[in-house]
Amino acid sequence: MFKQSEFIKSAANKSGWIEDTTPEVCFVGRSNVGKSSFINTLANKKKLAKVANTPGKTRLLNFFDINNGSFRLVDAPGYGYAKISNSMKVEFGIMMEDYLTSRENLKLVCMLVDLRHKPTNDDIQMYDFLKANNITVLMIGTKLDKLKRNEIAKNEKLIKETLEFDQNDVFIKVSNLDKINIKESYDALIRLIEV
Ligand code: GDP
Repeated sequence: MFKQSEFIKSAANKSGWIEDTTPEVCFVGRSNVGKSSFINTLANKKKLAKVANTPGKTRLLNFFDINNGSFRLVDAPGYGYAKISNSMKVEFGIMMEDYLTSRENLKLVCMLVDLRHKPTNDDIQMYDFLKANNITVLMIGTKLDKLKRNEIAKNEKLIKETLEFDQNDVFIKVSNLDKINIKESYDALIRLIEV
């Protein structure tokens, strides 16, 4: 787990990004996938990332300092929320595309998917986009505790097939509730960004 974590700032656009060479890991996923919970679990804090704020409302990148300047965590707004307007969807797309394609600090994207469900078109688009831009992905399957034992391998297979998952990427199944595979996720993240 993180040795230290602290919120730095939110940014609505490029002018708010931090200018230095600290590596960044960006966290992306559909609204409600368990992204805030996963970040809070990694940080061992109840409210580092806000859980259950109105999904899809915040259109900001949130920057966090991790392990006293070792790297930054960048929390992206959840996508796929049906009730946001088209203009907000466009705004989100532009901001994310800008960050994911031009941010030199970006070393890794941690993408979360819900282990219970087949990936949506939004998930497929996001993963395709990351792969098309040669971004290393750490895929976190959430809510492992909700699966019956006989569903685990089957659901992982369906998710990987639907996304055309790159076998060079790492896939880890977690439970935020039962704190399963949290250390494994942290270790994989550190290994992938080499800090
Ligand atoms: P976000 O919108 O992706 O940030 O999702 P949240 O972290 O707010 O989680 C959405 C809902 O899923 C909340 O009710 C969480 O308590 C629940 N949740 C998150 N992770 C898990 C998990 O691993 N297991 C279970 N059972 N519920 C989870």
